[in-house]
Amino acid sequence: MKIEKAERLKRLPPYLFKEIDRQKEEVRAKGMDIIDLGVGDPDLPTPPHIIEASQRAASDPANHRYPSYSGMHDFNAAVARWYQRRFGVELDPGEEVVTLIGSKEGIAHIPLAFIDPGDVVLVASPGYPVYHIGTQFAGGEPYYMDLLKENGFLPDLKVISQESAQKAKIMFINYPNNPTAAVATREFFESVVAFAEEYNVIVCHDAAYSEMAFDGFRPMSFLEVQGAKSVGIEFHSLSKTYNMTGWRIGFAVGCTDVINALGQVKSNIDSGAFQAVQIAGITALEGDQACVEEMRQTYAERRDILVAGLHAAGLSIEKPRATFYLWVEVPQGYTSAGFASLLLTEAGIVTTPGNGFGAAGEGYVRMALTVDRDRIREAVKRIEGIGL
Ligand SMILES: *Cc1c(COP(=O)(O)O)cnc(C)c1O
Repeated sequence: MKIEKAERLKRLPPYLFKEIDRQKEEVRAKGMDIIDLGVGDPDLPTPPHIIEASQRAASDPANHRYPSYSGMHDFNAAVARWYQRRFGVELDPGEEVVTLIGSKEGIAHIPLAFIDPGDVVLVASPGYPVYHIGTQFAGGEPYYMDLLKENGFLPDLKVISQESAQKAKIMFINYPNNPTAAVATREFFESVVAFAEEYNVIVCHDAAYSEMAFDGFRPMSFLEVQGAKSVGIEFHSLSKTYNMTGWRIGFAVGCTDVINALGQVKSNIDSGAFQAVQIAGITALEGDQACVEEMRQTYAERRDILVAGLHAAGLSIEKPRATFYLWVEVPQGYTSAGFASLLLTEAGIVTTPGNGFGAAGEGYVRMALTVDRDRIREAVKRIEGIGL
């Protein structure tokens, strides 16, 4: 029998990290010690009080049955209270909140609710790949908004063609941003709301890194802007804030009609998140937030060591105000892939070539601050040793 994949899989772009994965194996096989700054997955454990809450909840038979696909009322209510405390935004937990099995799940599914074949979705390049892949799975066409250094890595909405803007149904934005570590301004969010109103575009703001910000900076919610709740939703994740990537818990909040349509898709695909995980999530959102401050301190310290080291090695990098990424310009004469390959083969350091996040990411590599400070110091020493 011949196993033939569907067009939606065949049409996916080739896996751009294949070459770096191959080189990684080669370097490892030579016995070289590898420092992996490639993946955006926290190396720190989930705080103990969250784990304990889930252990109690896992033992309770009331939690062993199918959960509600839209989330437990108690979890959605905890989300609404957290939003009020954190952003001063009122949410109706019954109508304006949906629990997600990780925010990636909601991001991948939302195009199924609104995109028909040929519809356009505005996505950033470079950007988190799920935006354009979710779009393509739903039969939509991604339109790439380039994130350029001269615009502070914010998309320039004025350069989107009239035709594409009119065909667009959804715009994905993400601040603080992966991979560029850029942060948004209130003016930018206001211009997004105006654009959405003019062209009837649903805004999906991915705020996975809203709590991972440094030096006292607290990113704002898209929903804080006047009119935002009528045009869009915001995705949040407990993954990065509470070191819970493996637990699969997140949520979307905002415009009732958009939240309901996403819930309708979910009710036909999944059956919600395990209630013990939602109860752990409630404990995370409502418990002691000292763990979040500790997380910020840890990454800020690593950031400072790596930024100083990269400067000493002659690389150009601005100190990011948020996220656990450094978006590093490659030295003259290198491509993203070439520089990532040099760092790997000469220094045993894994980074992610920027073009893997979209064509406009060419000329950069992304470094994730997901190893401890001693390993970061070791990485710095090795980079200086290359003699760039
Ligand atoms: C890590 C990350 C997420 C979070 O995904 P989960 O599915 O909630 O773990 C979402 N968006 C971006 C841009 C991310 O980097």
